Amino acid sequence: MLLNVNSQISEQPESTHARVANILPANTPMPLACDACDHEQDYNMSFLRSLPQLVCSQCSDTRQFSRFELTALEVALNNMGYYLSKTA
Ligand SMILES: [Zn+2]
Repeated sequence: MLLNVNSQISEQPESTHARVANILPANTPMPLACDACDHEQDYNMSFLRSLPQLVCSQCSDTRQFSRFELTALEVALNNMGYYLSKTA
């Protein structure tokens, strides 16, 4: 009976509704710590996607942000329930 099917669908547990994907805009600041002095600086995701050179404002340490780090960052965010907007 059709009515019975409808009532079953509406009786889904609360947890399925609680799992909301949080979309992060591409300009969300991401704090990254400097390898040399642990100074944290914010970089936004659209900047990090360009795989830039990161220059520490504290000690001027320069390093290349790698595709591996970008992927690791995105996976970590996904695991926390955050999804990055692909529009930069
Ligand atoms: Zn530094």
